[in-house]
Amino acid sequence: MSCELCDSVGGELLWQSDLCRVVLVEDPHYGGFCRVILNAHVREMTDLDTYQRAKLMVTVFAVEAAVRAIAQPDKVNLASLGNVVPHLHWHVIPRFEDDRHFPNPIWGEVKREGEKRQINVEALRQAIKTGLG
Ligand SMILES: [Zn+2]
Repeated sequence: MSCELCDSVGGELLWQSDLCRVVLVEDPHYGGFCRVILNAHVREMTDLDTYQRAKLMVTVFAVEAAVRAIAQPDKVNLASLGNVVPHLHWHVIPRFEDDRHFPNPIWGEVKREGEKRQINVEALRQAIKTGLG
């Protein structure tokens, strides 16, 4: 069975380790939207051992901190769904009270046009790198 997260990087690569990678999602309304993607094709968090699980979450929280610093959102949404692509990945989404879907999840009903937001990608890359030592 083919899996898009096994077959491709899944976005612009910002950082990677043996365990996982961080990519930038191309969405003009959600500048700074990142995904933390496990390199291996694993379905659920509880399929990982305790150490891998902790390491993955350290990465997710470092990305959250970097997204907060660079995008300065009103709120960050963390989500791990995997219903469409059952390959472990976390969404780290900067949210603004006047964004396209707020207060819905970004996969929910569009509430307004919403402005396009860009971030400094190099600054975000650097902040993630710094956060992960
Ligand atoms: Zn996969």
